[in-house]
Amino acid sequence: MLSFEQARQLVITETQSQLTPPPSSLLPVADALGHILAQEIRADREYPPFNRCTRDGYAVRAREATRNSTLRCIGEIKAGDTVFAPLEPGTCIQIMTGAGVPPGADAVVMIEFTGRSGDTVTFDRDTESGQNLVPQGSEARAGDLILQPGLRLGFAELAIAAQVGAANLLCYQKPRVAILSTGDEIVPIAEAPGPFHIRNSNSVSLSAQVRLAGGHPVALGSALDRVDDLSAKIELGLQHDILLLSGGVSMGKYDLVETVLKSFGAEFLFDAVAIRPGKPAVFGRCRNKLVFGLPGNPVSTMVTFQLFVTPAIDLLSGAPPRPLPLLNATLSQALHEKPGLTHFLPARLEWAAASPQVHALPWQGSGDIAALSHANCFLVVLADRHDIPAGENVSVLPRPDVL
Ligand code: AMP
Ligand code: MG
Repeated sequence: MLSFEQARQLVITETQSQLTPPPSSLLPVADALGHILAQEIRADREYPPFNRCTRDGYAVRAREATRNSTLRCIGEIKAGDTVFAPLEPGTCIQIMTGAGVPPGADAVVMIEFTGRSGDTVTFDRDTESGQNLVPQGSEARAGDLILQPGLRLGFAELAIAAQVGAANLLCYQKPRVAILSTGDEIVPIAEAPGPFHIRNSNSVSLSAQVRLAGGHPVALGSALDRVDDLSAKIELGLQHDILLLSGGVSMGKYDLVETVLKSFGAEFLFDAVAIRPGKPAVFGRCRNKLVFGLPGNPVSTMVTFQLFVTPAIDLLSGAPPRPLPLLNATLSQALHEKPGLTHFLPARLEWAAASPQVHALPWQGSGDIAALSHANCFLVVLADRHDIPAGENVSVLPRPDVL
């Protein structure tokens, strides 16, 4: 059986094999958080646009402002002031953070290292040329490439785009991800469930995970465990870039997802992965769309989404796949798990000690959403491990929505 790393790599390779650039559209820069940039952004002028003062103090010629020397202060420059007049030899000028350093001056002395009497300024220490100013053009020259296509837009990328005057950004459109739950027991969340019915919580968690991963969720409700109903709804789902199914992929008599997908001509790249929860996860291509059959138990659905669906969404968004953000932590309570499968256990990562500590939470297995709602990560117990003593270094997969 495939390891989770192998299965994930198969998703990446298969998604890349038929990748075309997604359509793009213009978005106001302030609305583009989390989108993938589809254009180059270049500097519109030099940055900084002038020799920028980084401290409140005095602009000087460094060789004149030596320890115990004095200079005559001839005025002040504040941020935003137009600065053309050169600084005359033998003088200094009071200057504020963010202001332009006048021609002739090559350093700024912090006000803390000066004394002042009338218009005479005394310097406590020697001054180095270039101190406390950022030279014009040292961050970027006009026309320099600032942001590349394929970059994920976070707050820093949006800020630099705003700085160079890119008020609207050409961004790739988010992939549309259809979400179809399956199961005769599943009812819409707004409906009163019968005694043996289950509300369709997977539709909600998957929509949230799709959004978080950078996709656009399209909720299709649920299908009965019947070939006709499943077929009709899978047909609808295949109109989108990715189809996610939850449930119906195990060995039960009414687990019909694979059978129905096969009747649509699907080719499967895997239909089991050596993990718990999530072992029966299915991935394939059907009518040139990517299809994931995620096991229906809610925690299995969440784990398999995070492991396998996220890189496909990254690639269809126009970005490279983000690595799985595994961290290391010290195990604070001993663990005993059956070997053979890699376990993803709901757990809490805490930073109270010098190094991060993690402990598994009590849970009733992969249907226990309540346990997961107390967890901020999954503790990863590799397939060849069963008894892990407290104090050992272990791998942790953070929940990207809460950590
Ligand atoms: P399955 O993978 O179809 O065998 O489903 C396994 C378990 O997950 C069953 O106990 C279901 O009740 C539960 N389940 C399946 N689909 C959903 C869903 N959409 N929302 C919440 N629980 C579900
Ligand atoms: Mg089912």
